[in-house]
Amino acid sequence: MSYFRPTIDALAGYVPGEQPQQGGLIKLNTNENPYPPSPAVLEALKQAIGDRLRLYPDPLARAFRRAAADVLGVGEDWIVATNGSDDALTILTRSCLSEDDLMVAPTPSYPMYRVLAQIQGCRFESRRFTDGWELSGDFMAGARLGYVPNPNSPTGTMLPPASLLALARSAAGLLVVDEAYADFADANCLDSVRQCERLVVTRSLSKSYSLAGIRFGFVVAQPAIAQTLLKVKDPYNCDALAIVAATAAIRDREYFRAGVEKVRATRRRLEAMLRELGFSVTPSHANFVWVRHSQPVRPIYEALKERKILVRYFDFPGFGTGLRVSVGTDDEIEQLGQALRAIV
Ligand SMILES: *Cc1c(COP(=O)(O)O)cnc(C)c1O
Repeated sequence: MSYFRPTIDALAGYVPGEQPQQGGLIKLNTNENPYPPSPAVLEALKQAIGDRLRLYPDPLARAFRRAAADVLGVGEDWIVATNGSDDALTILTRSCLSEDDLMVAPTPSYPMYRVLAQIQGCRFESRRFTDGWELSGDFMAGARLGYVPNPNSPTGTMLPPASLLALARSAAGLLVVDEAYADFADANCLDSVRQCERLVVTRSLSKSYSLAGIRFGFVVAQPAIAQTLLKVKDPYNCDALAIVAATAAIRDREYFRAGVEKVRATRRRLEAMLRELGFSVTPSHANFVWVRHSQPVRPIYEALKERKILVRYFDFPGFGTGLRVSVGTDDEIEQLGQALRAIV
């Protein structure tokens, strides 16, 4: 007999991208920002280390909520602060799904949704994109919770906010638009949250704010929804240093905008370079590029790794293989190009 629930014994578990702890690598595999966070973050952290560590953090992270509410133009009670946006996904899954309920997510997409469903012990179905990277009008059919990353990972493709709003309006359950990469795109679903209470947005400070090491994300939802999520989260889900860092980061608008612009400019360069090298490149709205090639890509991934360049290799059942390359600095992309010219 096992000590664990059958669903946990059967679980393969989420396999994160490689996080090697030695230096000397060009790391283009988990969509981190190649630039450091705002200097205001380091200043705020230094002060917090001096006088915040003895006490519990604010359970609501109100300093962050105020800052985020200012920036996004919503009320503070529309924001739920979370320990990375993965924590937001966990809270939403726990809040919505009983054993017989259905979670849906697109494929190919973020593999974490399925893992969350398995842990929860609910049903899960993945639904394919159309040829034009849209979702069919019945995407939410039968589902109590749907997850759609927008822009999507690993493809970098994007659905128009109007399509997602239509899906949410036709749904019986909540549609969560995972906007981990929305800061790199031209559009997002914040307005739709105002228009439909079934549409919920999650955001991350890991990518566009260069804070993957800090673990901070948040939910934007209508106040009645947000209030319920607060009941489910761990009491102190965001630590004191994370709250301080995230608040300073989101307040520094100028640094944020400049950083996003740099990444977008390098993304265009990266796409052009990969196309020139014979890859089939899906136009990206995020801080990474999804590519396929007429030759198998696994050996390309391995050859890059031998040259100390990490990208992410994916194999989606029923869809196939590809490489996801994060946007690094211009210099890193140049070195990637040199390596690839020797490989393909
Ligand atoms: C990176 C990522 C997340 C998780 O972000 P954290 O805030 O670091 O937990 C969530 N969803 C998608 C699609 C991601 O790529």
